[in-house]
Amino acid sequence: MKTLTIIGAGISGLVCGIYAQRSGWQTTILEKAGNPGGVSTSWKRKGYTFEGGIHWLIGAKSGVPLNDIWTETGALRENNPVFFKDPIYTLMDGGVQLDLRRDLRTLAKFAPEDRIPLAIMRFHVWCFTFFHSPVQDLGGLNVRHPRGFSLMEFIKMGPAVLLTPLLMSFSAGRYIKRFRNPHLRRLLEAVVDPQINALSLIYTLSSFTSGDSGYPEGGSLRMAQNMADTFTSLGGRILYRTPAVEVSHKGVRTEDGIMQSDAVVISMDARTAIDKLFNPRLEAPWATRMRRKLRTAQCMFIALGVKTDLSERPRCMQIVLGEPLRAGGLEFGTLTVNNYSRDAEYAPEGCTVLTCILPGPSYVYWKSAREAGNYLGLKQQAIADFICILSMILPEISGKVEVTDMATPLTYERYCDTFEGSYMSEWRPWHFCANAPIRLKKGLYFTGQRTAFSGGLPVAAETGRRTAQTLCKDFGAEFVSRNG
Ligand SMILES: Cc1cc2nc3c(=O)[nH]c(=O)nc-3n(C[C@H](O)[C@H](O)[C@H](O)COP(=O)(O)OP(=O)(O)OC[C@H]3O[C@@H](n4cnc5c(N)ncnc54)[C@H](O)[C@@H]3O)c2cc1C
Repeated sequence: MKTLTIIGAGISGLVCGIYAQRSGWQTTILEKAGNPGGVSTSWKRKGYTFEGGIHWLIGAKSGVPLNDIWTETGALRENNPVFFKDPIYTLMDGGVQLDLRRDLRTLAKFAPEDRIPLAIMRFHVWCFTFFHSPVQDLGGLNVRHPRGFSLMEFIKMGPAVLLTPLLMSFSAGRYIKRFRNPHLRRLLEAVVDPQINALSLIYTLSSFTSGDSGYPEGGSLRMAQNMADTFTSLGGRILYRTPAVEVSHKGVRTEDGIMQSDAVVISMDARTAIDKLFNPRLEAPWATRMRRKLRTAQCMFIALGVKTDLSERPRCMQIVLGEPLRAGGLEFGTLTVNNYSRDAEYAPEGCTVLTCILPGPSYVYWKSAREAGNYLGLKQQAIADFICILSMILPEISGKVEVTDMATPLTYERYCDTFEGSYMSEWRPWHFCANAPIRLKKGLYFTGQRTAFSGGLPVAAETGRRTAQTLCKDFGAEFVSRNG
């Protein structure tokens, strides 16, 4: 039996570990943090659960290729059935309330002046209905359960493939500007960051409307724990609070000594790894390109535990502010607020969790704040401003907030060592970040974010599987994806 060490028990490390373990490797995962899941995580505070990871799980629909990875790795089970939100977002702009529903035709009733651009958008979304992140087997690999890819599937993906270059050439914000109705524009801005390319907007909308994107009940932590359980039930071992310090020809060095194995997979952020894990640091051409070209997607995350029932309010509110919120050196004219009042497990009875992601490059701001010694003070200020602004829109929370929490890019950096505290690479129009290769040499591999476009859990899953296949191919092992 060959031995394998994986650095990181994020989603990509777990996927890779499960497939490797099933394929006959004796696998140990070293994890810096105390939990599995990496940045895909939720945590508890005084009886409230804050969901700081999954908002949309692509591949939630059975029958699509990515769903096979989620089921084979035990990520989706009876204990976390997938829930499909509808409406997906609700715009709240003064007295106006507008739903983004899975049936996009409802928007035309609200904005008849945009009938034509809406019809075009529905056509674009339809083109992507049959487009699924490809999950394929490596050529020349011995696979016990080969994946088929029929000509029909290929033909169905044709319209999406033809549209892709066009949609990649301009931003989601520019796509949204075609609409004349200002409320409609604001609503669509909730779907993806308007600065990234229009392809992401259309692909995400299509995954909502086709039912491929949902929320597994119990959230990020339950899903990651399910995967960790699958891994350990197959005989794999996870060493929590055990950071890898260095990778060399001798093996992986931790604070407790050297771990020797036949192969090593680096699933921690590759951009961090090329600077920190190698001595001297990695200087391959792709690493230099990565240092130069990487644009990171960063965010702040605010969570409130509120002693009131908000089940009359929408699940996901796109709130237009009269006065912008200032936080992390950025300004926000709208807030996307998730309301977990209908999820019984998230808060004590009669109470609610509200969360909000504030996207944008705030790493430098928070780093300077820490160096100046006012990091905590500025965080408290940002939370207080957030509550104050939100209370004007949702007066029922006024004076009822009993627990607060905020993560900044420095939080993600501290817990998961992601570069600039980011959670994926940013994909702007025609901007290609340099990715790390899956295979550095026989016995040394990368996986996860920074090894493929575009990002998020689909990339973590697909690259985790691809890395396990590459490893099996290199060592002449059979790749086994499921029991039996
Ligand atoms: C607020 C938020 C919301 C999100 N929402 C979604 C969503 O709705 N849908 C979606 O698809 N994606 C979403 N994402 C993105 C998604 O969660 C990530 O892209 C994905 O989980 C990254 O997985 P990964 O395994 O590649 O990396 P990571 O999660 O970064 O995993 C790497 C692991 O390596 C560990 N590690 C680091 N250094 C070391 C070391 N030296 N030794 C040992 N271990 C180490 C880390 O602790 C971590 O566990 C969201 C992210 C955030 C932050």
